[in-house]
Amino acid sequence: MREFTGISASPGIIIGKAFLYLDENLRIPRYSISPDEIGREMDRFERALKKAIGEIEALKKKTYSDLTEQDSQFLDSHILMLQDPSFIEEVRLSLMERSQNVEWIFFKTIQRQIAMLDNADDQYLRERTIDLHDISNRVLNHLLYRNRISLADLTEEVILVTHNLLPSDALAMNKRMIKGIAMDAGGRTSHTAILARSFEIPAVLGLSEITKIVRTGDEIVVDGNSGTVIVNPDEKVRERSDRAWQAWQKREEALLNLNELPAETLDGKHILLKANIEVPEETDSVLSHGADGIGLYRSEFLFLHPGGVATEDEQYRAYRQVLESMSGKPVTIRTLDVGGDKVIPDIEAVEDKNPLLGWRAIRYCLARTDVFKVQLRALLRASVYGDLRIMFPMISGIEELNRALEVLEEVIDELHKQGIPFSNEIPVGIMIEVPSAALTADILAKRADFFSIGTNDLIQYTIAIDRGNEKIAYMYEPFHPGVLRLIKMVIDNAHAHSIPVGMCGEMAADPYATVILLALGLDEFSMSAFGIPEVKQILRSVSLAEAEEQLGTIMEMKSYVDIDKYVKGWMNEHFDILS
Ligand code: PEP
Ligand code: MG
Repeated sequence: MREFTGISASPGIIIGKAFLYLDENLRIPRYSISPDEIGREMDRFERALKKAIGEIEALKKKTYSDLTEQDSQFLDSHILMLQDPSFIEEVRLSLMERSQNVEWIFFKTIQRQIAMLDNADDQYLRERTIDLHDISNRVLNHLLYRNRISLADLTEEVILVTHNLLPSDALAMNKRMIKGIAMDAGGRTSHTAILARSFEIPAVLGLSEITKIVRTGDEIVVDGNSGTVIVNPDEKVRERSDRAWQAWQKREEALLNLNELPAETLDGKHILLKANIEVPEETDSVLSHGADGIGLYRSEFLFLHPGGVATEDEQYRAYRQVLESMSGKPVTIRTLDVGGDKVIPDIEAVEDKNPLLGWRAIRYCLARTDVFKVQLRALLRASVYGDLRIMFPMISGIEELNRALEVLEEVIDELHKQGIPFSNEIPVGIMIEVPSAALTADILAKRADFFSIGTNDLIQYTIAIDRGNEKIAYMYEPFHPGVLRLIKMVIDNAHAHSIPVGMCGEMAADPYATVILLALGLDEFSMSAFGIPEVKQILRSVSLAEAEEQLGTIMEMKSYVDIDKYVKGWMNEHFDILS
């Protein structure tokens, strides 16, 4: 038995038989041909193109019911590329000029195109290289008479173990048969992670070498909640995973019943439960988990690609897509939170010394108003498509908030003058994640329309522990009296100025914290969509009066160890907590 830790990319737990899917690197033969063989090589090429097109057409039909408009356009674009006369002519001319076999000529032609796109200024064009890789493999498979086992043809339930998945493979795979995914490559925002989440397939990515360990037929556990994969589990682990799986299933069933119900306490206090997202594709899962809206869209994920900055139109399209798919439910989009631990390639906010205390988030945006204004324009333009709220990250005091609002006003004036429509009623709020902001919440509340407490950073800065350092992870304690007092101060001051307070840090998703946060007066909890049902269940099984009574006891305690022990004991006694 061996256990591996990766990135939890899609929630759920599954035990099953592994299917190792290796798209081993193609070895492309290279040899000279005589001029009278050019016609034959060209015929082979055209036959391979036809087969590749036929394959994509079949894929479109087979997966028809699962295809979104975007998927369908993506497959059509592959067909267009394969039919492009100028591309076919380029291969023909190169064949005549170089007198080499067509696999090699085709491969080199595609490589040239990939290199050109890689250097393009336009991000959209750069991203098209993945399509070229995809069609290149498809055509080469036919030229080399290589039959790949198709993920679309799987007839047995399996857990897919692979190095990486091409977008077309992920689209084509038989989703009913693929029960889990374990992958060497990939992060939470990779294409595979996005698709796994939207197909609700548990997935652990970023496992580095899992394909070197697992063989087809091995039994494996994929725990997408904790981000672990266990290969050939022993009886004890099997039983534990079985129990976790059953609990997970039960929880999913309960979710279906809870979706339509409000998050309301036994004595009628209504709480909003919203979702955090990183990419627009997550909105399906947000809606299917019964969220009241999006409490945090981390817009910096749009910038997380080589080349960095996302253009105004790219941003506008993404924001509009999110607003439209939420059909009028509120969507809070946070402006760029670059720097610190969020290193974005090619954006200069990368620092060696103390990056977490450095040039990040709103500090970066206020220095680079050119980048900030582009984002604000895109947000305003998209605002007519739904209920948008704008949120500034890492505000540390009133000066930064005033300046950010000034820049927003400048952009509003600009759009006004240009006659570009935007909503006049966009609430503008701030994240409270720096202790100085929490301590001046009364001042900030006069200028902000709402607060959202970012406990991930607030805890880090309050207790002075790097949230990514595993050696001091034991000190990362949401129930530290210092943290609880700051949260209380923020909520009380916001309410004194009649503005709502949400929380979008991970503490909002911690079921053990739900009753305390309710009693502290939090109006909105925002978390990954799959965390919503458990928190909702707790809120629906407790009264505000009972929660306040517990809070009274907790706020008297002096040590986080005691608070932690007390809260966990009380919560486990009263609720069925799974995670
Ligand atoms: C936070 O700090 O709590 C937060 C939600 O922001 P992020 O995790 O993106 O820093
Ligand atoms: Mg933060």
